[in-house]
Amino acid sequence: MNNNRSIIRDLFIELTERCNNDCAHCYINLPENDAASQDKELSTDEWKHIITEAADLGVLNICFTGGEPFLREDFKELYYFTRKLGIKTIIYTNACLITPEFAEFLAVYPPLEKIEVTVYGMHRKSYEAVSRVPGSFDMYLRGINLLREKKVPFVVKSALLPYNKSEIDEFETLADTIPWMNSLPVYAMFFDLRARRDDTEKNEFIKKLRVSPEDGIKFLARNKEKYLKAQKEYFSKVMCSRNKKIFFCGAGHGGGCVDAYGMLQLCLMLRHPDTVYDLRKGTLKDGVVNFFPIIRERESENTEYLKRCAGCFLRGFCVQCPAKSWMEHGDLDTPVEYLCEIAHAQARYLNLVKEGEKAWEVADWQDRINRFTNE
Ligand code: SF4
Ligand code: SF4
Repeated sequence: MNNNRSIIRDLFIELTERCNNDCAHCYINLPENDAASQDKELSTDEWKHIITEAADLGVLNICFTGGEPFLREDFKELYYFTRKLGIKTIIYTNACLITPEFAEFLAVYPPLEKIEVTVYGMHRKSYEAVSRVPGSFDMYLRGINLLREKKVPFVVKSALLPYNKSEIDEFETLADTIPWMNSLPVYAMFFDLRARRDDTEKNEFIKKLRVSPEDGIKFLARNKEKYLKAQKEYFSKVMCSRNKKIFFCGAGHGGGCVDAYGMLQLCLMLRHPDTVYDLRKGTLKDGVVNFFPIIRERESENTEYLKRCAGCFLRGFCVQCPAKSWMEHGDLDTPVEYLCEIAHAQARYLNLVKEGEKAWEVADWQDRINRFTNE
């Protein structure tokens, strides 16, 4: 019997940070021809070694992402290698680099999970205002049409930006025509800052593209009944854990993410140097079994965190986490004001906090949750 079975269930593989697009809101992209980044990327053999170890540890799903994963010249080789090991694959892509020959390849060796294509706009003007690459709209359109034609299952998702927000209905009409869509498309809108903390100017720009907490709630609750039902379900199951720990999410449980240069991360976003493990010097098993649990046990000494998040009944509902603190503040636990405001705006909408109240000061939170879930 293989004792390694089930040590890892899901693995994200970020093949490259480079991208053929240059999206206005992107947290990671580097130019397509960034030689310094390309030189540091793992080789084909290094990736195969990691994928083989993941298979030995029982991995069920591997998600190839980027940047744009199809930029890697060895994508097909790595993908085929993964599929031959019997691993289900998921691909996150902008679809721009899908050629007829590549679509045929995907039709012959389907990924077993639907490909996820992000759509940045319904028209050339809006799409290219986001992607900032002339010609990218036509390339994306060709890509999804080829997938459709070859019957390669895919779904679409979007990023809600000032350039395309008037096109939601059109986008959802498109989504409706895709046979593999079985729910409404998902949208990114509370954008992350640069995950490498490498571009302060772009960070300022990303902040301007973010929706306000109030507009975000209006959008999330546009189908009020469905939204309330989902929130009631969430709050009826949630246990409020008040403690000093900085991790209360699933990061590093049953998986992780390998970046383009072989650093193992607890999740796709968390790149704080103290939390990553170099796979060029160690093994996936050591990273997941020995390194991750030490990181996950960390407790906060940050007075703001201890005053607020450590005692906040919205913790878990709010998306504040170590990765977000890293991207905004360069540490693991300084609360992110924007996320705090979003959580409060939602909680006000749900009548869980009152105007002017702070969630960490609410003493009767359990009664309020009970009232809300039983309404
Ligand atoms: S297509 Fe994706 S990875 Fe590329 S720049 Fe846009 S958001 Fe970033
Ligand atoms: S709502 Fe604010 S205080 Fe509560 S967990 Fe989120 S960031 Fe922390």
